[in-house]
Amino acid sequence: MSNKKNTDTLSDNLSETSDERLEQDIVVRVVLSVPVRKIFDYIVPATLVLPCPGCRVRVGFGSRIMTGLVIEVSNSSRLDIKKLKAVRAVLDSEPVLDSKMLQLLCWVADYYIHPLGEVVFSALPKLLREGKSAKLPDRPFWVITALGMEALKQGPGRAAIQHRLLEMFSEAEMPQGSEACKAVSRAWKKAIEVIEGKGLIERAEPPATERVASLPALSTTPDQQQAIDSITASLGRFKCFLLHGITGSGKTEVYLRCIRAVLERNQQALILVPEISLTPQLVDRFRQRFEVVIDVLHSGMNDTQRMRAWARARCGSSAVLIGTRSAVFVPLARPGIIILDEEHDSSFKQQDGFRYHARDVAIKRASMEGIPVVMGSATPSLESWHNANQNRFGLLRLEQRATAGGLPEIHLLDIEKQPLENGISIPLRDGVRQGLERGEQSLLFVNRRGFAPAVCCTSCNTLVQCTRCDARMTWHKKAGRLLCHHCGKSSQWPEHCSDCGGGEMVTLGQGTENIQQTIQQMVPGASIERIDRDSTRRKGELERRLKRAHNGEADVLVGTQMLSKGHDFPNLSLVGILDSDQLLFSSDFRASERLFQLITQVAGRAGRADKQGTVLVQTRFPDSPWLQAIAQHDYKAFARMALKERKSADYPPYTHIALLRAEATKQQEALKFLEAMHCKARSLIVSSAAMRPVNLSEPVPSVMEKRAGRYRAQLLVQAASRKPLHDFLYQWRGEIESDRSARRVRWSLDVDPVDLY
Ligand code: ADP
Ligand code: ZN
Repeated sequence: MSNKKNTDTLSDNLSETSDERLEQDIVVRVVLSVPVRKIFDYIVPATLVLPCPGCRVRVGFGSRIMTGLVIEVSNSSRLDIKKLKAVRAVLDSEPVLDSKMLQLLCWVADYYIHPLGEVVFSALPKLLREGKSAKLPDRPFWVITALGMEALKQGPGRAAIQHRLLEMFSEAEMPQGSEACKAVSRAWKKAIEVIEGKGLIERAEPPATERVASLPALSTTPDQQQAIDSITASLGRFKCFLLHGITGSGKTEVYLRCIRAVLERNQQALILVPEISLTPQLVDRFRQRFEVVIDVLHSGMNDTQRMRAWARARCGSSAVLIGTRSAVFVPLARPGIIILDEEHDSSFKQQDGFRYHARDVAIKRASMEGIPVVMGSATPSLESWHNANQNRFGLLRLEQRATAGGLPEIHLLDIEKQPLENGISIPLRDGVRQGLERGEQSLLFVNRRGFAPAVCCTSCNTLVQCTRCDARMTWHKKAGRLLCHHCGKSSQWPEHCSDCGGGEMVTLGQGTENIQQTIQQMVPGASIERIDRDSTRRKGELERRLKRAHNGEADVLVGTQMLSKGHDFPNLSLVGILDSDQLLFSSDFRASERLFQLITQVAGRAGRADKQGTVLVQTRFPDSPWLQAIAQHDYKAFARMALKERKSADYPPYTHIALLRAEATKQQEALKFLEAMHCKARSLIVSSAAMRPVNLSEPVPSVMEKRAGRYRAQLLVQAASRKPLHDFLYQWRGEIESDRSARRVRWSLDVDPVDLY
């Protein structure tokens, strides 16, 4: 395999006794899910079939038996062959990852300077990681035979269940599987065996039940058509497109048309969407349009379901795969296009363990496969926007809404000059009331769940803090608990102030629970649906609540970010944004970008069908140029300002950055560790001219220094070009890994971090 750097560091994986069965000296290089950047050599005994690269093997590692993946087959090792351990079993007769996928994963491991074994195994479904068979038990489907029809006429006799099954098959227009049989009787299995054995039913291809296409394509707007033409003209070769379309401009229609063209070439489409926008509604839109097998892949599925979707994409029996971040690693038999919807969304970045960005992996993958990648957003990330400006991405724009209602009017409401009642201003309250009178829906966006984000002592003003984090406790009235949103710690409502012992405790500020209660009092007749992580924790609850929102049963929606994306509520005409100011003052370098994205996305829920939408943004800073750009729907103006800010601060996209994070149970320990690593970094940079362009910041405590009982600190590294940064990180990580003090802290190296805290 081509990952030179990874194969350079060969193992010291020697067994105590040599294996006598060795005749042919075939060595396989194997990666394991272990946190070291090493590849391990094993010998393949003559009794086993020879595994090819991409196959899994079972091997001994230390005292453990592990599942490994073969990266390379060779007839030599840098180690003494006689001392290598033998492969215990070969688990696959054909590779679970083809050579292109392996190549991609090697590139990814190298780019993120992460152990290849962990990269490879995080790309596989859990069942495969555990060494389970890659072949799925097939789900049989049956149809009734002529013999079966005859048997049916003779009546049930003593075999009632068999008879009822035959009846079911005779009435069905399509082949039926286990689901339908189960509905007939719980004891269906035995009966099916018997009637299949007698030839009364026979196996058939899975039916077209999953192929429910019922809607024709919409006639496209000229903008849409132009985008579709550009993308479809690039099928069969690598090209990156940024589809910048305002909310409601019909980006999905563009995807659907492009996918149609891909399907006509008998290729597959991979659609990546953010965690929270993968709703049944979105999947339905695809199912209604294509008579092909469409699979979904997300974290809410069980292991078998995930495995099935993975396997069907790999063998080519599904044509469209819609998934969240990790779906970027699903092998496709006939890849034709990759689409990333809401490409700016931060859920595309994995924030722990193997920290990759699905957008960047998708681009690399598309270039290796020679296919186009389409990144769509109403509010592109500044990185992608910059790439488009530099002509690295083709820019496609949809500047009009596809439906009759235009973009919503955004009003900045100065709440310095407005009395607020529990966080809600009079114009907003009246707006909700008038909407209700017209039979229209309103949405109130609150960025915090719970009842109140703080609890305070009336005599000394002390706020209730989490004992494990530098953070305030949130009051959850419904649950009757104080909760820390950072570590999950919960406690009772405090009878007394822990600081002064006296004083009454009161809540400060409003979360979703409070707003729900307030608006219910203000507009008594309204039916209100709260949608946040708390109200949707139970399985199926989010779907139920969204359904009530969509079909108009709910008059007012109160919710967090969960409501901001992907939803199309046709009857929604008013959006209220209650607490935008906290977003204005976040210290992160992406704060203004997030503010623009969030408000634009939430605002975009208003006036989607034929209604004119209105958005009221409650703020103390109506003159803020960021809010002004938002109110004018002026992404370009926003991007100009934000890019200028990034440039002057030497942040991406003008530089490349990496962040070394550390945390420890003792205060100062993480910082001390980073100071030692800072020293090592300095000597590396001094010793090599090639690394000289790399800049080091001083290690600093994180913004929230204490979290879940651990003290955290970070060190930022930055360079104007990628090559010196990568070379530096590569060597630096080696030094960190081998440093003994690294064992006393938890550390991680984040290449292209999205958050700097
Ligand atoms: P976006 O993803 O850009 O926010 P959608 O794809 O969800 O927008 O489209 C918004 C609405 O416009 C949807 O209800 C969709 O059915 C409708 N729509 C999209 N394209 C057209 C078109 N060409 N003609 C009529 N309606 C369209
Ligand atoms: Zn906490």
